[in-house]
Amino acid sequence: MKHTLFEKLLAFYLLFFSVGTILFFLIVPDKIEEHLLSGKTYSLTRAAEQLAEYPNVYHCSFSKKDAIQLKELLDSISVSCKLEIWLVNEDGRILMSTKQRYPLSHPLQIDQFEDVANDRSCWITGTFFGMFRQKVLSIIAPVTIAPHTTDFVIIHYPLSQLETEANTLTNICSIILFIIYTLSVLLLLAFYILFYRPLEKTVQASNAYINGNLKFPLTPSTDDEYSVLQTNLQYMAKEINKSGEYQRKFVANISHDFRSPLTSIKGYVEAILDGTIPREMQDKYLEVILNETERLTHLTQNILALNSLNDNGLLLEPSIFDIHAVIHSIAATKEIQLQKKDIQLIFSLCGETQKVYADKEKIQQVIYNLLDNAIKFSDPHSAITITTSRKMKYVFVSVRDNGIGIPPDQIPKIWNRFYKSDISRGKDKQGTGLGLSIVREIIQAHGQNINVVSTEDVGSEFIFSLDRA
Ligand code: ADP
Repeated sequence: MKHTLFEKLLAFYLLFFSVGTILFFLIVPDKIEEHLLSGKTYSLTRAAEQLAEYPNVYHCSFSKKDAIQLKELLDSISVSCKLEIWLVNEDGRILMSTKQRYPLSHPLQIDQFEDVANDRSCWITGTFFGMFRQKVLSIIAPVTIAPHTTDFVIIHYPLSQLETEANTLTNICSIILFIIYTLSVLLLLAFYILFYRPLEKTVQASNAYINGNLKFPLTPSTDDEYSVLQTNLQYMAKEINKSGEYQRKFVANISHDFRSPLTSIKGYVEAILDGTIPREMQDKYLEVILNETERLTHLTQNILALNSLNDNGLLLEPSIFDIHAVIHSIAATKEIQLQKKDIQLIFSLCGETQKVYADKEKIQQVIYNLLDNAIKFSDPHSAITITTSRKMKYVFVSVRDNGIGIPPDQIPKIWNRFYKSDISRGKDKQGTGLGLSIVREIIQAHGQNINVVSTEDVGSEFIFSLDRA
């Protein structure tokens, strides 16, 4: 990442501020002045034209009384509008001026006024032929007694006045510009706090996760889409971390479970080969070796079963079959084990047959594992009961024993892979701790439930549901 989003936005803002400010001061004051000038010219032209129509002005020979009246009127206009009004004849002689007493003691002559008189130009700016020290806007309106122009009404308006107004307006516009800038900075700040900071945090976390730091904290600080994104990302990281930890534990457990039988097999074989174990004792130790290899086979089978469940996910091959027939066939394979411990197997089945809809092979595995555990953890000369019952659209299968039971605090853990309770270790040296996790994965893949009810030293009952066919 060469530049962050915020840096780009900041650069855009700086460009916006500088170009905006330059353009503002290049264009706005001139435009305001231009606008004020044209407005003033227009209104003063209208005023001058009206004055030129004033009846007493038509006659240069108006009486002194009329002239004084006119002078008073023009004086009051000029004071209230900050203007200077002249009455000038065609030769450029000032007949009346609001700045001087009437009649003028020394009527002033405007040089080169003929140009204006000939031109009939309506307005000019400047010092009006050097008559003013400062620049003025001069509006000239001819007094016409058809068909001749006799005199001119000239209104002078100081341009400094216009500049003051223009400056005031420019200042107001500058304040508005400043407010716009301040608001846009606030907008930038809001963007930074609301959008950029959470985004930055999310990117930081995702980088940490990619670099393997899956424990990098990403606590959502807002309550919006960002929080959903951050929560999801953290959840994914946690899951990946969990699965990584699980893989490590899995490999450690497998290595451990493989190592101990292999060590004992190796030890006994070496002892037989080097004669440490006499020939007459060899059968006994060969039996131990056979047991250990059976355990390894069992472990490998379980690992393969779990692997295939993980690979296939929910890929089951369901069919309609008789669950009672399956129970009987599994029970038949366990006959020798049952006889060895003198355990009685009781069937309490709901009818001759009971059709269910499930993956037959996988359900066989479930019943096999549950019955295997029941036999392993039952006391000799006890009984195991397999019950089936119908409830609504389900068939419930239960395997109950009168064995060692499971301590309440260990019940939630028995479903974990490689979990073996302490008391079971003594009773079951062959166990891998994978049986029940396989059972639960199969039942969950069917969208069904499995539960356990167990009391220490009394016994355990495992019940799972299946769809009735
Ligand atoms: P394993 O293949 O070693 O039997 P499981 O996953 O089947 O492993 O069982 C896990 C643990 O659950 C066992 O070690 C035992 O402690 C407990 N358990 C399972 N079934 C029973 C049962 N019927 N009676 C008592 N404890 C049981």
